[in-house]
Amino acid sequence: MSIAKRIQELKASLPQGVTLVAVSKFHPVEALKEAYDAGQRIFGESRAQELGAKAKVLPNDIEWHFIGPLQSNKVKEIAPYIHLIHSVDSLKLLNEIEKQAAKNERIIRVLLEIHVAQEETKHGFSINECRELVRQQPNLPHLQICGLMGMASLTDDETQVRAEFQQVRSLFDELRSTAFKGTECFNTLSMGMSHDYQTAIEEGSNMIRVGTYIFGEREY
Ligand SMILES: *Cc1c(COP(=O)(O)O)cnc(C)c1O
Repeated sequence: MSIAKRIQELKASLPQGVTLVAVSKFHPVEALKEAYDAGQRIFGESRAQELGAKAKVLPNDIEWHFIGPLQSNKVKEIAPYIHLIHSVDSLKLLNEIEKQAAKNERIIRVLLEIHVAQEETKHGFSINECRELVRQQPNLPHLQICGLMGMASLTDDETQVRAEFQQVRSLFDELRSTAFKGTECFNTLSMGMSHDYQTAIEEGSNMIRVGTYIFGEREY
């Protein structure tokens, strides 16, 4: 199936209110162009340099999302144009994004990544760390915290995956009704990839990050 056809079918199958981020990391510009021509405008990348190179040659009505581990020293490369950073996993990184957003005289939108998977290699705040961070109300005038991002364990055990998504969802609901009450911007729950996005949507995700299903296997 072509990239265009996959995008169209996937979009048609999504419930209203669920946003598709097409994860295009490691795929060539031509693949992104094909998705763009099929109407896709939101792309997710995981490396600052690769994102910069693609953004330079592709149309400027694309919303670029950063989804991978982000090193503090890379923030300045993406700060001028990034639409949403999904993968914020430390106060240090929040502070660096704040600094670069101020320099660029813009507001940068971010999600806090929550670690619920079993794999230690995955990133993110624990649920309690996230609560504590929010409670401290760090001074970040050039940032908008728009919600949470979570990744489930890489397993065929759907019960496990579902339980992990539920943990992120319930933290999201909790924060929405406490610290972020009345903050319209705190409305994004980014969960679900190619192999588990259906479960994620059932558990309340409203933003899915799908790569392989659309573009095929990545070459590393
Ligand atoms: C690569 C990646 C995805 C997309 O994964 P697929 O399995 O290819 O759909 C989603 N989220 C994050 C954080 C990723 O790094």
